[in-house]
Amino acid sequence: MLADSLVARDASDEELARVHPPAYIELVRRETAAATDARYLSTGDTLVDASSFRVARRAAGGAIAAVQAGVAGKEAVFALVRPPGHHAEPTRGMGFCLFNNVAIAARAFQAGFGGRVLVVDFDYHHGNGTEAVAGNGLSYVSTHAYPAYPGTGAGSYRRSDDLIVNAPLPAAGISTEGFVALWQYLLPTVARIVRPDLLIVSAGFDYVAGDSVGDLGVDVDAAAPLAAVIRDVAAEHCGGSVAYVLEGGYGIAALTRSIAAIAAVSDGAQSESGIADPSAIPADVSQALHAFLHAQESF
Ligand SMILES: [Zn+2]
Repeated sequence: MLADSLVARDASDEELARVHPPAYIELVRRETAAATDARYLSTGDTLVDASSFRVARRAAGGAIAAVQAGVAGKEAVFALVRPPGHHAEPTRGMGFCLFNNVAIAARAFQAGFGGRVLVVDFDYHHGNGTEAVAGNGLSYVSTHAYPAYPGTGAGSYRRSDDLIVNAPLPAAGISTEGFVALWQYLLPTVARIVRPDLLIVSAGFDYVAGDSVGDLGVDVDAAAPLAAVIRDVAAEHCGGSVAYVLEGGYGIAALTRSIAAIAAVSDGAQSESGIADPSAIPADVSQALHAFLHAQESF
């Protein structure tokens, strides 16, 4: 499917309301309609103008369309959408985000098919909004710089039957091998515990070295081995279904190279990197995750 293209659609009010209360949806509608020029949404640091509600509704609908196509075709589908969504909490847009695209898409999947969703977030920043929504069959696993915007994501915990797994990384950066090795350990381990029916990826590429907003010092070529581990976990647990939804990433060359690599790997190209060296993962990060996940495996 990645070789084909889909048309996005608008998310309905009902679809938005599975994550955002009607009063917040109305606030976004009202404040953006009143914007005669670029201005900040009253709830946080998100610049909006008169078109923002329409665009954000289409982005959320694009994420839903990607999920529906990925599930129908048992394959990977990528939603190339903006604005991003993972900082949007139920009643608080912030960090360029208005509606939480991945959470809305996850709830649409659950409404249609039931089952558990694992949101996989490799954006440079922590998805505070997605963590806020997690629960009721939605688990969340994230690598992110810490401390860094938005200041959340320090640790991991269980919320009833769902996991919130946070891997805070040094804001000064991490080696490419360490980043890849971390995901090669983290995703299969979390998926074995959560047993998701669908993976939705908060695909932010501001981790790439040189990004003007993020920059974890990770090489752009990390996207291929990341896609390989996502593909393999989706094949094992989800019949191959995975929806990627664009989050951050502010260098066009890094975005295009990363997304092209994901497309190629998802379509069956072999990742050339093989298994990264687990000893490249920062020791404190590795120890904290091992301790938490080991306890969950015997839960
Ligand atoms: Zn980001």
